Amino acid sequence: MSALVLGHKNPDTDSIVAAIAYAHVLNGRGIEATAVAQGEVAPETKFVLDKFKLQAPKVVSSVADKQVYLVDYSDLAQAPEDLGKATILGIVDHHKLGDVTTDTPLECWIQPVGCSNTIIKMVADYYKVAIPADIAGAMLCAILSDTVLFKSPTCTQQDKDAAQALAKIAGVSDLEALGMDMFKAKSNLDASPRNLIFRDFKDFDMGGKKIGIGQLELISLSMVSADLKAKLQAELAAVKAEGRHSAVLVLTDIMKEGSELLVASDDEDTIIKALGATKSDCMWLDGVMSRKKQVVPPLQAAFKA
Ligand code: MG
Ligand code: MG
Ligand code: MG
Repeated sequence: MSALVLGHKNPDTDSIVAAIAYAHVLNGRGIEATAVAQGEVAPETKFVLDKFKLQAPKVVSSVADKQVYLVDYSDLAQAPEDLGKATILGIVDHHKLGDVTTDTPLECWIQPVGCSNTIIKMVADYYKVAIPADIAGAMLCAILSDTVLFKSPTCTQQDKDAAQALAKIAGVSDLEALGMDMFKAKSNLDASPRNLIFRDFKDFDMGGKKIGIGQLELISLSMVSADLKAKLQAELAAVKAEGRHSAVLVLTDIMKEGSELLVASDDEDTIIKALGATKSDCMWLDGVMSRKKQVVPPLQAAFKA
């Protein structure tokens, strides 16, 4: 039985490409594995797959009775509902350790680096599995995406080294240009407010409270009109009303290197205070670019039971 390699819900470029790349590395190690996904690809990922002529992984919603490898997450809230009925063979991740647990031994590669694909490059090197040019190009894009062109505080020297090595394999010389093309594709706001909120959205269990946090990374926040912002705020209230304690949208300006915060919560003050914002029409957080490093930890601490 071929094992499934599966990224998180509302898949981003890292989780889609990590599934493809890790399935390749596992196959190279003699382990039969197939990349799948928990959803359709977002505009940025479509740009990357088209550019390197790769197929989007098949979408699955159930993993019952399957053998699975998780890539780019270890939180149950980001997994298929029936993950408990699957056998988890391994995890590759660069987030905080989540609440996934297993009944059997597994292979974990978890590192505090900027991108899951950086870790997959390490695993490929460790097992001496060669990476083909098309997959290397997509892995490079995943690193550029997750580290926001190496500007995110999550970025490490390992990410830069992996990106350089992958660029060489892929025959890419101008990383900055590739990254900007990718972020232009990502900055596509031609979607409903709901789709924009859920494009890169994660639910977290924080002290027993379900807190959903979406992030939109844009080349410029000036692209978000006052009208669109009002629609996003209204939709965020609806998202919160669907059984969440809070819903937050982080609007990141990748050139200005900061984020604006939209919040729908009964406890708005706690969120605003935890993130160091001051309550106003525009809650700007200078230097905040990373959800996993600068948004989730302070909220987790604020809501700790
Ligand atoms: Mg991800
Ligand atoms: Mg990632
Ligand atoms: Mg991200």
